[in-house]
Amino acid sequence: MPATVSLIRLDGYDDDAAVLAALRQALAPFGGMGGIVRPGQKVLLKPNLVAPSHPDLAVTTHPAILRAVIRLVKEAGATALVGDGPGVGDTRSAAKGSGLLDVIKAEGALLADFNDTEVYENQDNRIARRLHLTSHLRQADVLITLPKLKTHVQMAYTGALKNQFGLIPGSAKGQFHFRLQNRDHLADLMIDINRLAQPALAIMDAVVAMEGPGPSGGTPRHLGALVVGTDLTAVDTVCCAMIGLSTKDVPIALAAQRAGFGVVDLDDITIVGGNLDDFRKGDFVLVKAPGNIMRILPLPGSMLRWLRRELTPRPEINPDRCIHCRRCEHGCPVRPPAILPLAEPGRQVNDRTCIRCYCCHEFCPVKAIDLKRSRLERLFHLNAIANAGARLVGKLVSWWDFRRWLRSRAKPHDNSE
Ligand code: SF4
Ligand code: SF4
Repeated sequence: MPATVSLIRLDGYDDDAAVLAALRQALAPFGGMGGIVRPGQKVLLKPNLVAPSHPDLAVTTHPAILRAVIRLVKEAGATALVGDGPGVGDTRSAAKGSGLLDVIKAEGALLADFNDTEVYENQDNRIARRLHLTSHLRQADVLITLPKLKTHVQMAYTGALKNQFGLIPGSAKGQFHFRLQNRDHLADLMIDINRLAQPALAIMDAVVAMEGPGPSGGTPRHLGALVVGTDLTAVDTVCCAMIGLSTKDVPIALAAQRAGFGVVDLDDITIVGGNLDDFRKGDFVLVKAPGNIMRILPLPGSMLRWLRRELTPRPEINPDRCIHCRRCEHGCPVRPPAILPLAEPGRQVNDRTCIRCYCCHEFCPVKAIDLKRSRLERLFHLNAIANAGARLVGKLVSWWDFRRWLRSRAKPHDNSE
C-alpha cells in the first residue's frame, strides 16, 4: 500500500514558533496531532537519547523538536511521557546533558526511565518472539518516535526504525549485540521490536543531521528538514534518499523489505509539503558498511572470524582525547570487556575478542575512539573485494532467475487435464 511522508523545510531550532508551525504543517496530512492521539491518552515520546551530548553535536534529538511535540500533544488533550534506555549511564543524566530534561520540566511532561520491563510477544517475529521491553510501552496508549537522522558505523544509517532499539533497557542491548553479531540478524531484531511496539508516528529531526562516523563520532550537517509519517519504513526511505544512501546498503531497510514491514520503494511513497530534490545532499559523507562476507563464502567459522577482523575497522583509543571515563568499557557487550581504556597503550583493545559492534565508539562522549582499517585491508582493499564479490553473486543469482523465467515462458502450456 502506498505511504505518505511529509517533508517540511525547517532551517533551524532557535525560533520556537517556526518549529511549531513546521510541525503543524508536517502533521496536517495525518489529521494533525489530533489525528494521532485522543484526549485523555498517555503518549510515550521516544527521542534519540543515546548519550548526554550537547544539542549542537547532533547526537540526540534536539530539545526544540521535543518542545514542539509536547506542546501539540498537550493541545490534543493528551499527556506526554518522555523516555529512552541509553546503553551506558542513566536516562536522567542523558536527558540532562542533552538539554531534553529542561524541556520536559518546563513543558510539564514526565521523564520515564526504561529500567522496568515487561514481556511482549509476537509469533511472526523472525529473531525474538518474546522480548523484554520497557513497561512504559504497555502503560502508554500511543508511542511516537522522535529519531535523529544519522549515519551509523555498524548499520550504515539510524533513523525511525532503529530508534526503537532504545525500548530495550540499557545494558540488555549489549547482549543482543553479542548474540547477533551478523548485522542482518540485528536488523531483523529491529523490525521485531517495531512489530511489538507499533509506533503510531515518526517525527524525524533532520534539521541538523550527522554525517561521517555516526551515530556519536560524526559531524553535524545541516539538512533543514522535518520528515514525518505514520509508516516508519517510508520515513527512513525518504531520509536515505535525501543523503544519497541506497536502501540496498541499509540492513534495516532490507530487513523491513524481507518482513514486508512498511514501504521501502521510493516510487510507492507520496511526499507532501516539499520537493525531495530540494533536500538532496549529494556530498553527504556516508559510512561504507562492510560487505556481509558470511553470506557469500562457505568458510569455517574461525576463518570467517579472522576475515571479519580484517574486513572491519578496529576501534583504537586516542590518548590525546580520552578522558578515562570508562563508558566504552562499561558499554562493551563482551565479557570480560574487549576494551580497557586504563590499560597500557597497545593493549587497550583485545583484537581476538572484539566483535566490532562499535558500541564503544557510540558511547564515547569525546570522540576519543578512532576506527582504524587493518593493515591487510589497507594493502589489498579486502572490503572492496568482498563488496564486489557480493554484488557479483547477486548479479549471477538475478541472471539465473531471469533464465529460469525465460524458460518457463518458452514452455508450451499443458492442457492435458
Ligand atoms: S571493543 Fe568496542 S567494538 Fe569491540 S566488542 Fe567492545 S564495544 Fe564492541
Ligand atoms: S575512550 Fe572515550 S569512552 Fe573510553 S574512557 Fe576514553 S573518553 Fe571514556
